Amino acid sequence: ELEKRESIKLKVREHHIDFIRLQFTDLFGFAKNMTIHTDELDKALNGQLMFDGSSIDGFASVAESDMYLRPDLDTFQVYSWKPNEAGVAHVYCDIYDADGHPFEGCPRHTLKRALREAELLGYQLNVGVEGEFFLFHMDDKGEPVFRIQDHAGYFALSPDDRGEEARQEIITTMKKLGYSIEASHHEVAYGQHEIDFKYDEALSCADKWMTFKQIVKSIAHKHGLYASFIPKPFARQNGNAMHCNQSLQDRYGHNAFYDPNQPSKLSTITKHYIGGLLKYAKEIAAIANPTVNSYKRLLPGYEAPTNIAWSCSNRSALIRIPHSRGRGTRIELRCPDPTANIYHVFAVMLRAGLEGIKQQIEPPAEVMGNTYRMTTEEKERLHMETYPRDLHTALQHMKDSPLVEQTLGPHAYQTFLEAKQQEADEYAEAVHRWEIERYLKRH
Ligand code: GLU
Ligand code: MG
Ligand code: MG
Repeated sequence: ELEKRESIKLKVREHHIDFIRLQFTDLFGFAKNMTIHTDELDKALNGQLMFDGSSIDGFASVAESDMYLRPDLDTFQVYSWKPNEAGVAHVYCDIYDADGHPFEGCPRHTLKRALREAELLGYQLNVGVEGEFFLFHMDDKGEPVFRIQDHAGYFALSPDDRGEEARQEIITTMKKLGYSIEASHHEVAYGQHEIDFKYDEALSCADKWMTFKQIVKSIAHKHGLYASFIPKPFARQNGNAMHCNQSLQDRYGHNAFYDPNQPSKLSTITKHYIGGLLKYAKEIAAIANPTVNSYKRLLPGYEAPTNIAWSCSNRSALIRIPHSRGRGTRIELRCPDPTANIYHVFAVMLRAGLEGIKQQIEPPAEVMGNTYRMTTEEKERLHMETYPRDLHTALQHMKDSPLVEQTLGPHAYQTFLEAKQQEADEYAEAVHRWEIERYLKRH
């Protein structure tokens, strides 16, 4: 602890850091920060920096609003991606209440509670995420330039491909920060890109994702582009996913999902973990896909899952088992999208998987073909259910979920449900252009 503090102070001096961003994440997954001058570093390191929790979405009520930020010293990082803004660093923080107790609604604590449960069973969760996003053009005011579908190809980037350049710079920046990039490529849709980073211990992966989003946005901006993680900007094109490739590591550092003695090379607990994820999929849907727009992505034909099933190959299933075995044995949860709070996603998927292990839940048989084209009868025969089709339905499932309530804690659970129900209701009330076009003249 003392050594870590000294090393941070050394970095601050070496890199001439003037400002430090104390970062945290609100209930809805938005990055927040309080910037301090390095003069206040000691105070920050001692966890003495207070902020008004009532002004952060989904945190505390006015009555109990004093909260404290406690930096996680392992996450200190010098910003290298803002050349004009030399001398900035950040550190991720956990939130404590005035009595020094961890604030239950802090998403980082939520994930840590779930990770501790895994640890008691002898496991560490490792996750590798795949980040998909769109690069739009940007006007002189810094606003995205958005044209609807009928200008097909409008978003295809110019021959010199500013998008490609931006993506390359995003990657070099991430590498400088010590990320290992597994893959990166242009995605299926116009202007859509993907960057996958190597798996990591879950908490660290979640923090990295938060930094990744920031980097993508700020580098895109530098290239005159506007990056967005919106799940489905265009009706008839692929949307943005946040696939979560996960595995459990046992006490000896081995991948607990790998078993060379099984024909599938998957261990028994992998099956149970999948069983848990499938059983609770509907209950955790509102966490993995928390916006109205999320459900526009989850339709047949766009590589996004629509059915609660698992498969070794087919991308239409909720869970896919990528081909690699050995250390790389993992399961890919395909429903989450980038509007989700990643700390919550990891926490609920882990709890669901662990329940599967504890209750020894056998998953239904693996599905082979494309589940998009299956009839209701076929689906019934395979015990395959449909993933929630809209936010309202997902919230109904979450309302009946002791698992999600226990994972988030009653305060965050209630606050999240209320805010999201309001969002779903507002959408239901709005009259969309599609309705006018379809019905106005016809009726
Ligand atoms: N973009 C697709 C989705 O919305 C996923 C594509 C892929 O398999 O990488 O889920
Ligand atoms: Mg992809
Ligand atoms: Mg994937």
